[in-house]
Amino acid sequence: MSDSDESATTSGAAGEGRKFSRRLRYRGPNPRRFEERYKELDPEKYPDMQTHVRGQGRTPAGTHVPILLSETLEMLAPQAGDVIVDCTLGYGGHARAFLEKVGPSGRVIGIDVDVGELEATQRRLARYDGLTCVCASFAGIERVLADLEPGGANVIFADLGVSSMQIDNPARGFSYKQDGPLDMRMGPRAKRTAADWLNGISAQELTDQLVEFSDEPNAKEIAEAIAVRRAARPFLRTQDLADTVRSVAPDNAGAVPRVFRALRMMVNDELGALRNLLRVIPLCLRPGGRIGIISFHSGEDRLVKSAIRNWEESGLFVRSSDTPITPGQRERHENPRSNAARLRSARKI
Ligand code: SAH
Repeated sequence: MSDSDESATTSGAAGEGRKFSRRLRYRGPNPRRFEERYKELDPEKYPDMQTHVRGQGRTPAGTHVPILLSETLEMLAPQAGDVIVDCTLGYGGHARAFLEKVGPSGRVIGIDVDVGELEATQRRLARYDGLTCVCASFAGIERVLADLEPGGANVIFADLGVSSMQIDNPARGFSYKQDGPLDMRMGPRAKRTAADWLNGISAQELTDQLVEFSDEPNAKEIAEAIAVRRAARPFLRTQDLADTVRSVAPDNAGAVPRVFRALRMMVNDELGALRNLLRVIPLCLRPGGRIGIISFHSGEDRLVKSAIRNWEESGLFVRSSDTPITPGQRERHENPRSNAARLRSARKI
């Protein structure tokens, strides 16, 4: 998801582990704090709340709206009995649609690095016998398939980036709009938090990374301001970082989301994982198998595009379309978080 499309404007901690604390009063249809959104967070009890929030072009707290869903199904054409790997299970929006298509004779292997969200999605989709959830990075898809389906998959799908549940929860530290610990780890595999990165990296290296991950025009000034600020006090909170970036580039409204996205991509080695996935996909697909990847960042899209071109040149694959598929006006309006999405797909010969 594109970080510039954060639509929530909440603040405060998620309230996890505060078993005995009193529930906050629900302040009308637009509560600003994450923990006040209990009607959205409890869809079983308040089913209409989800529809109401979505009708306003927002994502209900604790959920994720699947992006380019009908286009993905059209491109990947899942069939009854297929084995599908969903490399980024998230809330399971795409996986649920795959499960419906593959039916009881098929199988969906849902991978995610985020153990908490993976378990919640596994519970939510428990009625589907064909779902197997694996907590791993999709960089290790070869090992996952060797264990579960040595014959390979008919479809491999990835919907890159973060989920709405992750970005909306201030305790995860992904959001520049809500104060929280500067963490940004999608799962326990990432050893260093965003604060660890920021407090350890040299100003030169940070400049290079901000250019590579986000083409940030004020990269050098921002990196230097970060170095000065952390020499006085290390960064601990998301708002410390947002304020420092804003103070350098007050007229550059995109700088804060770009710096947050770059840092998130570093913390989780997102391009490294994607490179690995692309390297092994041809080995993991059965003949006639399809791959589909939704990316939200030009660096990711370049990697996907060039991998598909290389496979095509070696006569292994045919691409499904020359240009990436992007969300239509209606989807962009209903779900602004879909804005930067680009779907590329190809079929193994
Ligand atoms: N398609 C999903 C949403 C996916 S959001 C849905 O419809 O609900 C992206 C998910 O990818 C997040 O849950 C994130 O934790 C996961 N993710 C990101 N990088 C990953 C990686 N390298 N390996 C496995 N999961 C990853």
